[in-house]
Amino acid sequence: RAVIGVDLGGTKIATGMLDQSGSLLARSQKATAGLKSADEVISTIVDTINEVRGEQDIAGVGVASPGMVDSKNGIISNGVNLPDWDGISLQSELEKRLGISVRLINDANAAAWGEYVYGAGRGSQSMVYVTLSTGIGSGLVLDGRLFTGSSSFAGELGHTVINPAGIQCGCGQRGCWETYSSGTAIARLAREAIAEAGIETHMTMLAEAEGVPLSAKHVFQAAGQGDQVAAETLEQVIHYTGLGLMNIIHSFNPDRIVIGGGVSRAGNAFFEPLIRKTEELILEPYRGTCTIKPAELRDDVGIIGAAALFVD
Ligand code: ADP
Ligand code: ZN
Repeated sequence: RAVIGVDLGGTKIATGMLDQSGSLLARSQKATAGLKSADEVISTIVDTINEVRGEQDIAGVGVASPGMVDSKNGIISNGVNLPDWDGISLQSELEKRLGISVRLINDANAAAWGEYVYGAGRGSQSMVYVTLSTGIGSGLVLDGRLFTGSSSFAGELGHTVINPAGIQCGCGQRGCWETYSSGTAIARLAREAIAEAGIETHMTMLAEAEGVPLSAKHVFQAAGQGDQVAAETLEQVIHYTGLGLMNIIHSFNPDRIVIGGGVSRAGNAFFEPLIRKTEELILEPYRGTCTIKPAELRDDVGIIGAAALFVD
């Protein structure tokens, strides 16, 4: 039977139907801008599902959402950029309208499960997925099962603290991992290094030439072209990212870590030094036990991972 995944993003609802081998058979997408109530949002989700399902018999619908997702009660706690969202029982509402079983899941957990079943996590036993994006998200697959914890909120590794004297994170705490290794953090560390060096850097020029603010992408680009300040920033970033991966390896002893998100697009310039640094940081018995790989599924990872919850 076919399965359906819905990715509730910040700006759009993207829905796809997959067969059991993970091939995307149909896809539909609608913008969330202009939707005025939770009811309109739910109706729009139902419309996308009806568009992709056709006459197919559907085993289930997985819904991935950013933010805190209460999978146990089928509620998205702190709504995405959706109107009147608080406390809506999305799962029961969708099940009522569709007559199909529905599961809600956090988007990083969906991506973790998608990579484990169909992507860079295939064949591993315990896999941790990390997305280095605007923030840091993560999901845990332990002994072949998606581990979501006692109230479904497990895997917020972006908010584990690596420096209590660090800058304030969006969550209120100081020095969370995501304030050191997200794309946003890389750009901030670069700006700090530029201010300290007090010189004109190649990365600044790259950003100016594009007419956009300095971003993580420019830092990697400039470092590859010999910018010393950018290279030093990346050395710092690799150290912090390695510390985060070290914490993961020491906590879960996974045989695989899969890294996705915008920063992973930097490719080998990121992965080679990161793998070396992590191997150096971890305790001796862990050396050589964990493979660190870039994610394989791209834009549709949320759809694929949520749908894969119903693959048997
Ligand atoms: P979102 O957080 O909206 O899901 P992404 O996963 O694309 O977005 O992550 C965005 C971050 O990734 C930005 O900080 C951006 O600078 C960074 N990024 C995008 N492309 C690259 C690249 N090629 N190399 C390094 N960083 C990148
Ligand atoms: Zn935090």
